[in-house]
Amino acid sequence: MKNMMIELNPKEKFIINYLRFDPGKTTSEIVNALSLKRANSYNILSKLHKQGFLVCRKTQTTNGERGRNPERWYINSTYAYVIGVEFWNWWIAVGLLDFSGNIVIYKNTRCPIGSLTGNQDGLASKITDFIHDVIVESGLDREKILGIGFVAPGVVDLTTKEGIFYSHQKGLYRSALPRTVENFFGLPVIFQHNQITYAMAEYRFGGGRGISNQLTILWRSEIGAAAVQKDQLFFSDPTRHLKFGHMIIDFRGSPCRCGQRGCLGNYVSESFIISEISRLAESEGSILGGYSEINLDMVSEAIGKGDKLCIRVVFEAGNKVGVGVLNLMKLLDLELINVIGYTDDLAATLSAGIRETLDEMAPPNVQKPTIKHKGYDPFVGLRGAGETFLAQFFNNSPLK
Ligand SMILES: [Zn+2]
Repeated sequence: MKNMMIELNPKEKFIINYLRFDPGKTTSEIVNALSLKRANSYNILSKLHKQGFLVCRKTQTTNGERGRNPERWYINSTYAYVIGVEFWNWWIAVGLLDFSGNIVIYKNTRCPIGSLTGNQDGLASKITDFIHDVIVESGLDREKILGIGFVAPGVVDLTTKEGIFYSHQKGLYRSALPRTVENFFGLPVIFQHNQITYAMAEYRFGGGRGISNQLTILWRSEIGAAAVQKDQLFFSDPTRHLKFGHMIIDFRGSPCRCGQRGCLGNYVSESFIISEISRLAESEGSILGGYSEINLDMVSEAIGKGDKLCIRVVFEAGNKVGVGVLNLMKLLDLELINVIGYTDDLAATLSAGIRETLDEMAPPNVQKPTIKHKGYDPFVGLRGAGETFLAQFFNNSPLK
């Protein structure tokens, strides 16, 4: 396979990675920020420039000042491209990203993965079709594409590139999908859990940029979380993340599929929220009363219209998530909590419940974290997936 794995030494990678997230720096700024030797840095920058990794632009003249305008360095965004793939129970998103991480082309669709025919084969063909379409539409030379960052829910095995995904329609199933994609396209695939990807995306270019200690909660069909501590992923092994959904919040609670009882996930999952609302909708006069089938889109819309039952059920789920957060606050330093939900309204309501628990139950001397929320944004997932690949390309841990 032809690829572009040009040999880069650690300093070169360091500079490229720095400019990917802090573009437009002058040579002096780079030297200072990375504590490099000045003479050496000029050589490295000009070498990377010649190789096509970097471009350099003169700044605009300012206020007619005399003297030289410094050159500013940027990543050459057309140097190479990566493909990002993200999916979860309801959505598939595939995109092509340039070397700076901008999304050039994307396709996304609502797709209940468990309902696809042939189970994982149906999912595999849907995803390979999408990747194929994105490559064809881009009109790019195949050699310009470095590889594929593939992020998925469930359990990921980075060695065998197999995943165990959970689908409400089909339950748990094992799939070699990332490996299938790798063989099909002849492009290297880096496989990662989407929980890690979102935590990294929030820290790198989302609402948590520059905040050293944070927790990102991903709440869609199920709930999970990953933490950044002192600017590093909490688990240095990227296959591990907090089993947030399996924190016990009621030890006499209902059995969980993990074998424990009373796991948080069982009180906040999509299926729990929907069954609670279905059970109470008629008697509580909810606008969702009388529907034979309810989904999260309908719940979100009802919340937007001020439906008391839907707000209460999601808010109370948030109260329980707050208990999980309180427990984690004993273990982690948390300046910020990012709550990513299916929609803005759902995430906002869950966050309000979390906040209430922290306000009522956190010890008074404890500094409470800021809570930010947002709805599902396929662009964040795709950019995160692309970054997952590039982080490996630069041979770095997911964050540094
Ligand atoms: Zn469990």
